[in-house]
Amino acid sequence: MNRSSHRTPNRQPSRPPNRPTQRGVRAFRKYMLFFLLATGTIGAYLWIAYRTPLAEALANTAADPRTFLSEADVARAASYSMLRDLLFFVGYFWEWGMLLWLMTSGYARTLSQGLKGLIGSVWLRFPAYIAGIAAALFALGLPLRLLSYSISRNYDVSTLSFGGWWRDQWVQLAVDYALMLAVGAVVFALARKGGTWWFRLWLLSIPFLVFLMFIRPVAIDPLFTKYERLSDPALEHAVLEMTAKAGVPAERVFEANYSKKTNAINAYVDGIGPSLRIVIWDTALHKLTAEEIVVLTAHEVGHYVKKHLQWSAAGGVASMFFLLWIGNKAYRFALKRWRSFLFIRHPADWPGLPLMLLVVSVLTFVTTPLTSAVSRNAELEADRYAYALTGDADAAVTMYQKLAASSRGTLYPPALTYWFRYTHPSLGDRITEALDYDRTLP
Ligand SMILES: [Zn+2]
Repeated sequence: MNRSSHRTPNRQPSRPPNRPTQRGVRAFRKYMLFFLLATGTIGAYLWIAYRTPLAEALANTAADPRTFLSEADVARAASYSMLRDLLFFVGYFWEWGMLLWLMTSGYARTLSQGLKGLIGSVWLRFPAYIAGIAAALFALGLPLRLLSYSISRNYDVSTLSFGGWWRDQWVQLAVDYALMLAVGAVVFALARKGGTWWFRLWLLSIPFLVFLMFIRPVAIDPLFTKYERLSDPALEHAVLEMTAKAGVPAERVFEANYSKKTNAINAYVDGIGPSLRIVIWDTALHKLTAEEIVVLTAHEVGHYVKKHLQWSAAGGVASMFFLLWIGNKAYRFALKRWRSFLFIRHPADWPGLPLMLLVVSVLTFVTTPLTSAVSRNAELEADRYAYALTGDADAAVTMYQKLAASSRGTLYPPALTYWFRYTHPSLGDRITEALDYDRTLP
């Protein structure tokens, strides 16, 4: 292309090459090095951190896992937690690698150009382009998801059969595709007009966030699980007695069938308007006593009373503003910086999609410690509410011990994973808190 070795960095080739460029390949190799170093460093950190012995003051208290788990189970919980923590970080690094590969290999560019020759109508071509990107991400992410599933199976946390897992993968792909298509269409349509398109995108995102937080639990989640009215009337009565004391409008308690998928214990409260729905996972019904289930649901009622869902929706809208504002800046910066191998002339060119996803993923990752800290605060508030409402912190202590056993979670996570992964206080902290709770309703 160049007759002399003199470079003209400001000029872009009129037709981008369909094969990966030297610079793209080099950028991807550099990233691979980062991937290995970061994974190794975090792996070593976790390996050392999970071998730190328990603080003397906690030994032989209810917050000491050796008082309610066997030595073997304590060790198993530690190794499982370590693997999960590592998978959390590797999951992000892997995702960034996949997206970089879509760009540096020329996949996104070739796909976009190839479809131009095949499909005339943009209304058909765009869904086809998104399908090509979604399929590539699905395939490239499969090894890691398979690893994650097999680890959960190995530690008896997941009870999902391979067939069930495989089916869920396809359902997830369909949901992801629909989401990417809808959001992508809006993003590209707005970006094409230029100006402060990110601001208009933010305005449009508000109803979307409301959908995700208030409607998805009711409309989408049942696609994955079966719900029915709680079969134990005495338990329903006890739960409704608690909700009446809290002064919240609940008429029914539901059970959701999660035992085909997991051994983890959970419950939640959802619904807006005159009546709310209390949903208890059947795993909780199998493993917890009635008193423990009342505390578990009282915690969820605490979220409702303290309006945590509304607060988190407001927080979501505010953080979306910053995400889009900074994201737009970062996207433009990266387009300029990497133009030697991206060949994206306009921010609204379709091959820019993997870069947009990369920017969103990186920003999500770096803000996770903040959002986790906010969430932990709300969880602590809901815990305190539950203890004061039920006056039964003893049931809370035994419940946390059972949660630890069933989730194979560690009671005392290392600081790094605590900042990133813990949207709830650690079970060790929750037990300590319950042992010394305040009797007045917060
Ligand atoms: Zn909670």
